[in-house]
Amino acid sequence: MIMYIEVLMEIKNKHVDKTFTYQVPSLLQSKVQIGMRVLVPFGNQILEGYILNILESVSCEVKEILDVLDEEPVLNSEMLELGVFLKNQTFSSLSSCYATMLPKALKAKEKSHVSKKMSSFLKLNIPYSEALLLCKNEIQRQILTLFLDNDKVSKKSVSSISVSALKTLIKNQVLVEFQEEVYRYQLKETSVFEKKVLNEEQQNAFLEIKKGFGKEGVFLLHGVTGSGKTEVYLELIEEVLKQNKTALVLVPEISLTPQFIHRFQKRFSSSIAVLHSGLSDGERYDEWRKIIREEANIVIGVRSAIFAPLKNIGIIILDEEHSESYKQENNPKYHVFDIAKYRSNWHHSPIVLGSATPSLGSMARASKKVYQYIPLKKRANQSELPICQIVDMQEEVKYRHPILSRELECKIIEKLNKKEQILLLLNRRGHSTTITCSNCGFTHRCIHCDITLTYHKSSNQLRCHYCGYTKFLEDCCPNCKEKSLNYFGLGTEKLEEYLQDIFPTARILRMDRDTTANKGMYEKIISSFSNGEYDILLGTQMISKGLDFSNVSLVGILSADTTLNIPDYRSNERTFSLLYQASGRAGRGKTTGEVILQTFYPNHIVFQCIKENNFMKFYQYEMNTRKTLKYPPFYYLVVITIKSKDYKMCSLEAKKVKDFLEKRLDSSSIVLGPSTANLFFVNNVYHFEILVKYRFDSKIMETLKELDEIYLLQSKVYLDIDFQN
Ligand code: ADP
Ligand code: ZN
Repeated sequence: MIMYIEVLMEIKNKHVDKTFTYQVPSLLQSKVQIGMRVLVPFGNQILEGYILNILESVSCEVKEILDVLDEEPVLNSEMLELGVFLKNQTFSSLSSCYATMLPKALKAKEKSHVSKKMSSFLKLNIPYSEALLLCKNEIQRQILTLFLDNDKVSKKSVSSISVSALKTLIKNQVLVEFQEEVYRYQLKETSVFEKKVLNEEQQNAFLEIKKGFGKEGVFLLHGVTGSGKTEVYLELIEEVLKQNKTALVLVPEISLTPQFIHRFQKRFSSSIAVLHSGLSDGERYDEWRKIIREEANIVIGVRSAIFAPLKNIGIIILDEEHSESYKQENNPKYHVFDIAKYRSNWHHSPIVLGSATPSLGSMARASKKVYQYIPLKKRANQSELPICQIVDMQEEVKYRHPILSRELECKIIEKLNKKEQILLLLNRRGHSTTITCSNCGFTHRCIHCDITLTYHKSSNQLRCHYCGYTKFLEDCCPNCKEKSLNYFGLGTEKLEEYLQDIFPTARILRMDRDTTANKGMYEKIISSFSNGEYDILLGTQMISKGLDFSNVSLVGILSADTTLNIPDYRSNERTFSLLYQASGRAGRGKTTGEVILQTFYPNHIVFQCIKENNFMKFYQYEMNTRKTLKYPPFYYLVVITIKSKDYKMCSLEAKKVKDFLEKRLDSSSIVLGPSTANLFFVNNVYHFEILVKYRFDSKIMETLKELDEIYLLQSKVYLDIDFQN
């Protein structure tokens, strides 16, 4: 019999998907399964592609495939269908969707050099008692005892006793050496089994969600910081595992994972696979295969882990569901929740959304009973919620306290004296955000983007935080050659310097993207701070989330206004959530925590709600604003960005896009723009934006799809379609 397959490949510079038919030589026929990768000749190249279909006949003559690359399919039937769903949702090519779903080493795209990691092991060749008789000396007998309780022992640990004795034992056929695959990523050993007795609120949440097992359904677990949401997850997962099902747990950022994973490990001896951005390609490849082989029944990971090929999923948990990192900013621009929904449907499993500050959209759906709302109102360990004080920085500037207000400075001294720990949040990395010449007014700006460069003192470099452009800072002005540079704007690096200056004996630690660039630094910073090796941890929003330090009694927020001033309809929501999370780090132990919030707008509603610790007040205020301004969750919002290196063309095409949309869309839909984007000129490319707000518009999807296809064929203008949630 002759076998044919349809292969999906990504053809360079063409955004269109195409499958090509190939014949499978008889030698390879038994290996071929749908969802595997194959190597095929294409023109004068050799390409990788995914097998999407197996056929028995074709109408014309086709080429043969060269090889089958996998032993087991990299895409199972669920994943194959999910890719199609993703493609339809995001207007991306199917091959780019599969590429997004798979770890680098399993994409049919670039030739990867990752393969299984093999290691040498030894095992007994004859029964133990016989082996003992053949041992000639004490060292050989010592080696043999390693095999009393273990079927296999790594060659490395035997060699560490004696290489020559090992050689003899192998020569005498007492031991044999063999190769076996080892997984690269190893969780640190923990043996403590830790289980807390749930309090009434937690128990109630657990029982409510348990009622939803085996069906689709979304639960919104809204618990104040420290209310014990994680403990509820653990209890739910235990129940899921009892039913021989698996659990998928998503967290927004790697900074959450060390403490979080540790708690899972303490609870479950069963196998956990971990998928986050801190893993090497090889580690990720191993973790992925652990899941495919059903050796892991709990997966914990960041965004892309939503595609983990778990079978028989019993629960999907999105911790910190409001987090914007659940939305992918590159194509395909998917939201984790939509994928979770798809998988929940496939597996008939509930979704749990957990947060202390749920997104407005989720709250709105809960209030309409689309989601089941479950509140946790109290902190689990009886500690009090922190007391928050707002400081008006306009006053402080007058008293020459522009960085640390007098109040915050006093509090820091007080806490240092009491040997309590302090967290300081400043949402800007680097040293100074603007460098200007006081002689001629020259400001260092990025040559590719329309923004000022941030100075990084440790490397004496100016860096663009958008495109990554860097240059060294000369000590004189490039324009007038005077040595009169002024440093404006506060970044974490400068703050660290400043703090060390005024608190010379304090032990200060900084956490931002620069200090955590190297592998393992996150964990190191977090563990050394929680071990009490430092007094003050300062950093960007990285420090605001999920961390549970019991000795922190003061949180200082230095940059409450920065996120508020970004022109975006979500900036209130973002600011509220960031500050709420940050304040929640205070007073998790025995002493009540204090929060000091420095701002130039002390009466702003967001800060007032933070001070009162009143989520519902903020929610109601913000919902009213959104309703008035016709923003989500009342309207759907799509942002269409028109990009080009040619300014004129960009602006012209943007107008055309607007006309097209106005003609096609329902009259109830609102088309705004074109206007210049927040980041108008980035990486030498101009950006214009058009907003579409709609509620019920049956023509929206087909119209946008058509628009997308028109611009796929253009080479000088790009179109980007982004559905906001
Ligand atoms: P959240 O995820 O809601 O912020 P956590 O699950 O991290 O809260 O719990 C906060 C703290 O309370 C943790 O130190 C946790 O160990 C503790 N905790 C949670 N549940 C209980 C409980 N039922 N009894 C005692 N301590 C608890
Ligand atoms: Zn730039």
